[in-house]
Amino acid sequence: MTIGFAKKNKVSIRTCLGCRQRKTQLELWRFAVDNSGQVMKDFCGKHDGRHVYCCQADSCLQKFFKNKKGLSRAFRQQVLGFNEGLQDLFGSEQ
Ligand SMILES: [Zn+2]
Repeated sequence: MTIGFAKKNKVSIRTCLGCRQRKTQLELWRFAVDNSGQVMKDFCGKHDGRHVYCCQADSCLQKFFKNKKGLSRAFRQQVLGFNEGLQDLFGSEQ
């Protein structure tokens, strides 16, 4: 029942919304947005709908969080804010 290794030849490539580089999904964090326009981390993949991706690096995350317009475009939904859990990732900067 070790599912993790079964698909190692089929790792998805996604674009980081911070640096725009294409990377394997394993190197990226995945984010989703809820109905109220709050972006949240989506590690488990249970959330339906569109996802965006960002490197697990501060420099990329900062661009990611500052780019609400880009996020809105990527999600095809207006992004109004960020879920509480994301504050931990990003620190206290507004
Ligand atoms: Zn990046």
